Amino acid sequence: TKLALQDTQLVKTCSYINGSWHSSETQVAITNPANNQQITQVSNAGIAETELAVKAAKNALKMWSAKSANERATLLRNWFNLMMQHQDDLGRILTLEQGKPLAEAKGEIAYGAAFIEWFAEEGKRVYGDTIPAPSADKRIIVVKHPVGVVASITPWNFPNAMIARKAAAALAAGCTFVVRPAIQTPLSALAMAELAERAGIPAGVFNVVVGEDAHGMGQVLTQHPDIAKFTFTGSTAVGKILLAQCATSIKKVSMELGGNAPFIVFDDADIDEAVQGAIVSKYRNAGQTCVCTNRIFVQQGVLAEFTEKFKVAVAALSTGDGFGDGITMGPMISNEAVNRVDKLVSESIAAGAKLELGGHVSSAGGSFYQPTILSNVSNDMPIARNEIFGPVSPIIAFENEQQALEMANDTEYGLAAYFYSRDIGRVWRVSAGLEFGMVGINDGLISNPAAPFGGVKQSGNGREGSKYGLDDYLEIKYLCMAGL
Ligand code: ADP
Repeated sequence: TKLALQDTQLVKTCSYINGSWHSSETQVAITNPANNQQITQVSNAGIAETELAVKAAKNALKMWSAKSANERATLLRNWFNLMMQHQDDLGRILTLEQGKPLAEAKGEIAYGAAFIEWFAEEGKRVYGDTIPAPSADKRIIVVKHPVGVVASITPWNFPNAMIARKAAAALAAGCTFVVRPAIQTPLSALAMAELAERAGIPAGVFNVVVGEDAHGMGQVLTQHPDIAKFTFTGSTAVGKILLAQCATSIKKVSMELGGNAPFIVFDDADIDEAVQGAIVSKYRNAGQTCVCTNRIFVQQGVLAEFTEKFKVAVAALSTGDGFGDGITMGPMISNEAVNRVDKLVSESIAAGAKLELGGHVSSAGGSFYQPTILSNVSNDMPIARNEIFGPVSPIIAFENEQQALEMANDTEYGLAAYFYSRDIGRVWRVSAGLEFGMVGINDGLISNPAAPFGGVKQSGNGREGSKYGLDDYLEIKYLCMAGL
């Protein structure tokens, strides 16, 4: 079979709660988006199992938070090592359920594991403060504590890394963790649980509940009184619902929501570099990442050159089953996702956009959409207002820097932005002017564990990765000592 795993024990089909595999009465079919065929069935957990997992995490909290940072680091390091040892198998499982090309899937495993390695180390550097007090007989001391039980809901576009980014920071800080992965991609999450167990991470510290009832399980994970913090990656629309639910018990929250990334190519840019940057930032994961380029702004002087070179590069993408040789773009997650993108494209054409390339549902059989380019797009068309989340590049022309900045910022989102320029003054001005949490300057691929990933405006709050990412899982406590 395609899977051909070296270690078949990595395929699990039950939720992982309190260190054991927990089957439920009903089953959910998991399908391969490359051919829409069933891969396997998983046990369908619900509200009761989610409550059990929260209880397990609560029970394990005292033991886990009392361990030294070094002890936790050793276990996290084991987990990282196991993920890298099984990178090939984990990549295969990921491609099978999610669709992305195998090389990209293996890249995601390394990327996810890198967060575990990073936080294993960073967890040793949870420093406090001493602060000069306003009176001579007092001392002010600041210490940091883990926030407590952390609950999370994660999406299908990075079935491994979106969990790794959150769990690594939480566990390193001394928190215990419950995740409900997207039901489209539970197998990658469960394989992580199997490896967490082999790594020696104690029962109850890392729990995975897999089930169809997003709404019911989501209510438990946002409202349970034993949960201190909720962290979500997904759409802004769902994020708003979950944030409102969290308000009822004032949970700490981190929200990684949607984006509408501008990619600006100035007249002085290196056009070949810009073309390569646009390819990775747009067509990676078939356009289904929250930092994917959503609008390409090109200055008039290089519009013709950029468009021609970009067309050649996009036409060279090879679409197909992620297990195929040389495939650089896999299917989208579902037929519905394909239809949604197709509708945005046809609406844009009706509104005056010009189809340069692609533009159709692919005949490959699964959930495929052709890599597509539209030119003559304006910033008020639906394709420029909405997160496309598919392999379509709208090209919008502009005259000057001011106009580019105004259009780029004219969105409720503020996650990633990219621009290409060789002019040092412009680089500083545009970096300062972009209202986004992350800016790629002459770079289309910016995320790594050492850097703070996150957005402003309706793209969410909190940061993942870096020293700032650890802060999101720590509370500060101020000790006031008097009577000295
Ligand atoms: P998508 O629709 O593409 O899956 P979402 O933002 O809707 O993107 O989903 C992200 C995650 O949130 C998924 O795991 C999904 O199952 C979950 N989810 C969606 N709606 C809700 C909800 N009302 N309550 C809790 N979780 C939800």
